[in-house]
Amino acid sequence: MAESTATNDKLHSVECALKALREDIGLLKTEWLALEAAAGRILATDVLATLDVPPFDASAMDGYALDHRHAESWLPISQRIAAGDTALPLTPSSCARLFTGSPVPDGADCVVMQERVELSEGVSEPQALMPAALTPGDNIRLRGQDITAGHLLLSAGTQLNAAALGMLAAQGITQVEVRCRPRVALLSTGDELVDPGTPLKPGQIYNSNRPMLSEILTRFGADIVLTGSLPDCADTTREQLKKAAELADVIVTTGGVSVGEEDHVRAVLESLGRLDLWRLALRPGKPLALGRMSRGDHSICRVLGLPGNPVSSFVGAWLFLRPLLGALLGAPQMASLPEWPAISNFSTRTGPRRHYMRVRLHAGKEGLCADAFANQDSGVLSSCFAADALAVIPENTRIEPGDHIICLPLSNDF
Ligand code: AMP
Ligand code: MG
Repeated sequence: MAESTATNDKLHSVECALKALREDIGLLKTEWLALEAAAGRILATDVLATLDVPPFDASAMDGYALDHRHAESWLPISQRIAAGDTALPLTPSSCARLFTGSPVPDGADCVVMQERVELSEGVSEPQALMPAALTPGDNIRLRGQDITAGHLLLSAGTQLNAAALGMLAAQGITQVEVRCRPRVALLSTGDELVDPGTPLKPGQIYNSNRPMLSEILTRFGADIVLTGSLPDCADTTREQLKKAAELADVIVTTGGVSVGEEDHVRAVLESLGRLDLWRLALRPGKPLALGRMSRGDHSICRVLGLPGNPVSSFVGAWLFLRPLLGALLGAPQMASLPEWPAISNFSTRTGPRRHYMRVRLHAGKEGLCADAFANQDSGVLSSCFAADALAVIPENTRIEPGDHIICLPLSNDF
């Protein structure tokens, strides 16, 4: 599969790159974390429910519990059950005063909300008049209606979002086993790059890829363990890649993967490890490289060489880094982006490369409509700033306004 020479013009499909990316992938190690520290992390194992939720039949209202056959009757109030109390069995032909979350006593099969109950006044032992037509189960949250003990609560690979953390806490769980975050080294190549904070000399530009990719990587669950700026020099590139491979599970480089004589990443990667694939039939981001390096302990460090153009590296991160990190994390939902059908509001045509256009989505009469940014050049990062999605325009296709297209939302969620 490896494509190692600059002279070979073959471009690989996105699907082929995704396949190469997942080949020989091993899952990351796991760690136990306190529940709240595990927010956003990927669950490493299935978790079974050991408790019914709710753990008892509970009132869904502030009101009165009774046997429904006593509808339309005056009943003595035989007990008061606050949330957190233990209920006694209901005295026959009586009702119990209770509140939202209170346990429903044995002998009662429904709860009437307090607004529907009339109370007798001026008597030492007040009575309550129940309304007509009561049905068993009214206003009761049955034991186990949310979660049943013994069933799967959350499966391995789930991202622990707010609701998942709440579900775990409802089981009394204090610690969870999650995948360690993938350690990523982010290396920017290019003699022209300087960091913000230093004045620009003629011909220089600021490194915009590093903060951009740091944010995207962190959002995808990575721990950035190393960042570096590399000159366009084969020896330094070799040294830095070697160092990064010892520290990181994934090395992400930007720039230096094209065919110019100042592009060293691909050749160095080939000499240090293995180039799995290079040059893709996509726009933006053709000169993307996938490879791997072995570490001292014989484990594998994956290398993703993204092109230097900020838009290309942005698109490459969504299309390839996300599934790569997802495969290491065992998170199948990160394998691909959701596909949303939309109606094009623009015209375009593609050649042999699939185009991932930055678009803005809005609701139209017949569903989602996609407006493309006027300038889709791979140097125009402002097109990514306001984009909701990437519109996928297949190879050798002509698109006119009104045509159906597929858009990949750039969502914050995994
Ligand atoms: P390269 O892939 O190295 O040929 O770079 C392609 C283009 O992207 C060139 O115009 C570079 O100046 C630009 N570029 C490369 N790296 C960065 C970066 N980190 N931030 C902004 N622009 C970059
Ligand atoms: Mg360069």
